[in-house]
Amino acid sequence: MSLNASAAPGPLDLLITGATVVHTRPQLEVIENAVIGIAGPRIAFVAGAADAPRVAARRTVDLRGHLVLPGFVNVHTHTILTMVRGVAEDMGFAPAYTPGVPHGHEVTPDEAVALARLGALEALMFGSTVINDSYVHADLTLPAMADVGLRAYACGRIHDVDFSRVHLGEWRHDEAIGERTLGEALALHARWHGGPEGRTGVHLTPHAPDTCSQGLLRRVADHRERHGGVVTTHLSQSRMENQRVQERDGCTPCELLERTGLLGPSLIAAHGMYMSESDMRRAGAARMNLAHVPKGNATGGRIAPTRAMQDAGIRLALATDNMHADMIEVMRWALNLGRIQAGGIDDGWQPADMLRMATYNGAHAMGLGEHLGSLEAGKLADMVCVDMRRPHLVPNINPLGNLVHTGQGRDVAMVLVHGEIVVEGGRALRVDQDSILADAQQAAAALWERARAQVEPRRNA
Ligand SMILES: [Zn+2]
Repeated sequence: MSLNASAAPGPLDLLITGATVVHTRPQLEVIENAVIGIAGPRIAFVAGAADAPRVAARRTVDLRGHLVLPGFVNVHTHTILTMVRGVAEDMGFAPAYTPGVPHGHEVTPDEAVALARLGALEALMFGSTVINDSYVHADLTLPAMADVGLRAYACGRIHDVDFSRVHLGEWRHDEAIGERTLGEALALHARWHGGPEGRTGVHLTPHAPDTCSQGLLRRVADHRERHGGVVTTHLSQSRMENQRVQERDGCTPCELLERTGLLGPSLIAAHGMYMSESDMRRAGAARMNLAHVPKGNATGGRIAPTRAMQDAGIRLALATDNMHADMIEVMRWALNLGRIQAGGIDDGWQPADMLRMATYNGAHAMGLGEHLGSLEAGKLADMVCVDMRRPHLVPNINPLGNLVHTGQGRDVAMVLVHGEIVVEGGRALRVDQDSILADAQQAAAALWERARAQVEPRRNA
């Protein structure tokens, strides 16, 4: 079934009653005591109890005390990097550039799958129904993540720098590496993009302007030109990246993306912390999407200039990046960091704006806005139900305010993807959670053991 399949005729498959619906399309809409009818993969209607059609359903779920939102769209993550959780946050910045931690080229296929399944499970249980992932062994991790129950977009890192040397401070470009990584990404695209029920997809992912040569970036742009779709990358995530690109190409990373034909509305660029004002104007005029990673960046002591970016016309969507998958946390960090930049509270940066970035904007950035990102008749039934009957979410006067200021991923009680309940009672239904946790722990332990064995001899030498 493709994404364009229409709602099944006949009785509804699922009727949700009693919930408070909150979504943006893009303006905020709140429906108290709502009834949501779901037929097949799609939403048949969303209405207040008084206006809802009286129709039979195969199953009715009473969600009084719950908030129902569109599924979160996490536009930038690396699920395998759960392997450095709890350690890399306190070491340096992006793990690929940090010595002393396990790196992508050291991850075996089995370890990749074990860690990716953990990352996908966490994301799903915390309410993400779409993730945009990139790392290694994507041919195996992509279907493994989709099996957990969410819509998995993934791509191997496209680069021509030798990643086995970058964390040692060496940027050595090798055309053969570019050929191989681009070839693998194109094969992945041919195999998995637009998969059944839209549960798998591939957005080509050149790693970053400093790890991809100009020629390689042009080849990615040519492919997008011919086949359409979205390209994702990192952009100005460090001063070092800016400096590398300046030395190599005589321009900023943003200018390089423009020069190679990648800058535009079909680009999702992550971080952007070190974009200049002229970069922001350039990216804003091109309607670029930024994958804003507020919590991850703040953990490294940095803030992307999001208020200036928004003013410049850049479209903001939200992402967790590494080592955690809680989009509710991310909304809160985005809200607070934006207010620190503005020096106070204003109308343009409120909980509803964060919800829009986490859902509607993310879906549009991913090229999925026609089908996802808001709760309306005809769209796909990807939704998150948050149990608000908890001490930190009561009193429930303004549910969206409670959610963004004090909510947590683990308050998610139910998740639907493509009309299917994939999380219920806070448990993932498609997979054995305990075995995913055990496999991931074992994989990470083995990777750390090997990483430490590499570092120790150097230290002792
Ligand atoms: Zn990243």
